[in-house]
Amino acid sequence: MSKKNSSQMAEKMEGNESGNAETQEPGKMAATVPEKLITIDHVTKIYRDGGRSAVKAVDDLCLDIYKGETLGLVGESGCGKSTTGNLLVRLLQTDEGSITYRGQDITKMSEKQFHPLRRNIQMVFQDPYSSINPKKKIGWLLEEPLVIHHKKLSKEERQEKVKEMLRVVGLDEEYRNRYPRQLSGGQRQRVSIALALILNPAFIVADEPVSALDVSVQAQILNLMKKLQKEYSLTYLFISHDLNVVSYLSDRIGVMYLGNLVELGSWEQVSTRPRHPYTQALFAAANAEESNGTPLLQGDVPSPSDPPSGCPFHTRCPQCMERCRREKPVLTEIEDGWKAACFLE
Ligand code: SF4
Repeated sequence: MSKKNSSQMAEKMEGNESGNAETQEPGKMAATVPEKLITIDHVTKIYRDGGRSAVKAVDDLCLDIYKGETLGLVGESGCGKSTTGNLLVRLLQTDEGSITYRGQDITKMSEKQFHPLRRNIQMVFQDPYSSINPKKKIGWLLEEPLVIHHKKLSKEERQEKVKEMLRVVGLDEEYRNRYPRQLSGGQRQRVSIALALILNPAFIVADEPVSALDVSVQAQILNLMKKLQKEYSLTYLFISHDLNVVSYLSDRIGVMYLGNLVELGSWEQVSTRPRHPYTQALFAAANAEESNGTPLLQGDVPSPSDPPSGCPFHTRCPQCMERCRREKPVLTEIEDGWKAACFLE
């Protein structure tokens, strides 16, 4: 694509509130006061089963996500991390609380009001095969969001953009003519990233983006995501059950258990001095060979439809006290920006 065409296309795509005008070294918090991109304020999400039972998948969650950072969200299956991601991209609606994007409450918006913001908030899924239409060619899949969100672009300009995005994610432009089934898992995930990126978003939720891939391919996709974060000034919420994967990208880490955020801090703080017994057990399990007696997790996660009283972790906590069975600890600051929900000092 010529420079002239490229700048014309950029002009037509202006009007996005992409958040990319102001650059900041990705992967690092700004030296000055970091800008809040997303604020999750006392959000609760309940799944109801036809009125018979109710499961609180996310329980009174409060969390800020800052521009240019990668926030890793970890925890066992069913802890609420994917529900949180789905709430952020409005695949689910909150039951209580609010989510704001750059100060705008997206939970109260109609679909029409949210439409202009949709391009700023994108998602990369665990299994791209289930999130993209297998009957459509890659070129069409990538062009469709431009048809919806950038009506001023001509067909030729859209196709140039599609070729550009394929190159950006390391695929030859010839892949436009292939179907998803003709791609490997890693190539499909590259397409999924191109799809998330094509509208020039500011924020991407990546939900277990590499967990379905071989380890060697995982490294390639993580490297690509890191490179793109730098080039496009992206902010990531990176959801994973795998601490090793999370360690590669995350500036900060949030730990969830039974719908509750139980620890939050910089990667350095939480990985070197995990405070909450659940976080300690997760890290001990991830570094099993280096563990020197730190108790590992015992028992199963209680049913979210019948959560324990008091501290949600008390049924598995090796340091449980009497008080823990009655009272629920709140997330309390330990050091600057580092918090844990536990009664232990
Ligand atoms: Fe364990 Fe009590 Fe802390 Fe909960 S509050 S994590 S049960 S010590």
